[in-house]
Amino acid sequence: MSEDIIYLDYAASTPVDPRVYERMCEVSQSAYANPSSTHAAGRLTHEVIGRAAEQLGGLLNVSPETLIWTSGATESDNLAIAGGARYRAHRGKHIVTMRTEHKAVTDVFEMLAQEGFDVTWVDADSRGLLAPDVFAAALRDDTQFVSIMFVNNETGVIQDIEALGAICRERDILFHVDGAQAVGKVPIDLASLPVDLLSLTGHKFYGPKGIGALYIADRPGCHVAPILFGGGQQRRIRPGTLPTDLIAGLGMAAEIAAGGIDDDLAHLSELRDVLWNGIREIDGISLNGDPDGFPGILNVSVEDIEGESLLFALEPICAATGSACNSKVQEPSYVLRALGRTDMQAQSAIRFSVGRPTTIEEVEFAAGRYREAVARLRQLAPDEVA
Ligand SMILES: *Cc1c(COP(=O)(O)O)cnc(C)c1O
Repeated sequence: MSEDIIYLDYAASTPVDPRVYERMCEVSQSAYANPSSTHAAGRLTHEVIGRAAEQLGGLLNVSPETLIWTSGATESDNLAIAGGARYRAHRGKHIVTMRTEHKAVTDVFEMLAQEGFDVTWVDADSRGLLAPDVFAAALRDDTQFVSIMFVNNETGVIQDIEALGAICRERDILFHVDGAQAVGKVPIDLASLPVDLLSLTGHKFYGPKGIGALYIADRPGCHVAPILFGGGQQRRIRPGTLPTDLIAGLGMAAEIAAGGIDDDLAHLSELRDVLWNGIREIDGISLNGDPDGFPGILNVSVEDIEGESLLFALEPICAATGSACNSKVQEPSYVLRALGRTDMQAQSAIRFSVGRPTTIEEVEFAAGRYREAVARLRQLAPDEVA
């Protein structure tokens, strides 16, 4: 990355770890045969993919057979939600999610509503958390499918997946978790967590873009109907020739993450504290989210300032207003609006997200730049400060 950029947008995407890059280069040259081919070269590719499934399975503590490769979390979310709800539709058409989910989830629920499913949107509290009793109260006899994200991509809030999943298990409801911001970053033990389906993507934890996976628990009634049709690969759940080099990269990223989650979390916490302590004294500043959330994300609003101008004034710092997926739309974040923030507060929100390569110097610089930018913008528009 160019030297005049300070990248604080790791929740949008991460650089590929050099060890991941090395593995991908090696595999792209050595394991180029189609993994479906039964000749020796095909078997070699098949083994490379098997090894990656073991690495990813190791990170999540599940058997490699429970993992289906996809093109990323968007596709995994689509497959889990459309495929899971449709698979269970003969038993009931009530499905449940939250307004604070990623678009890759909410838009699929909107589509299913058009298809005749009955959707309930449960509310988060002002920090973004879903209380288990509020959740349980939203469930009905015909509820068959639920989707709740692990770590929120805008605020870093961590849901109580264990408690919510236990409620679903009791009632035999299919429980999907969007783990795009959690996998490789917070400890996840799927052998003990009551989760049926979990979506993940490589590029949020130092793997390549364009590759992800869907975990499908090996238990009765836990299955998804396919949304793609073709050559019958991956037990027909998700056909298509597998991208061997991307898969090998994701596997390597998983292995690296598995060895360092505690160290990563300690590093991120230190960075977030330095950043927050550097700006928390600013007049009218407030934190969006939960101080006990994922430490890689710090989302702040400040009175009387508009996020886009602030982002511009922050250069060379690369952070986000709302989330990357919605940054091009000049609307206040729907996630922050769902937490009860005013349009004005949501409009001023900046999401800083730090990562493994981030240094203390970078966040100190960012804090200073943020203080200056707020002061400058307030001077420029004194009339608006009512
Ligand atoms: C990034 C992200 C996605 C989409 O992942 P892609 O791999 O880019 O398709 C879905 N959900 C959440 C929470 C995300 O952060």
